[in-house]
Amino acid sequence: MRRQRLPFPRDPYWLDARFPGQCSKCAAPIKTGAPIFYYPNSKTIFCDGEDCGKHEARQVEAALFDERMCAV
Ligand SMILES: [Zn+2]
Repeated sequence: MRRQRLPFPRDPYWLDARFPGQCSKCAAPIKTGAPIFYYPNSKTIFCDGEDCGKHEARQVEAALFDERMCAV
């Protein structure tokens, strides 16, 4: 199932950090193997905090939902 139109050039997604990093929002350190929300387009990562990755994920889900509703 592929979407016809994408709100983002590439969809962000959850993955496990392959190297240590830092949350783009709260600046929390991210350990290898920690769940992160990753934007391939901007190479931005967020931790899985409610105000960070989970918040971003909800925004993306909402955008994709609207996109699907508008497409039909
Ligand atoms: Zn964070």
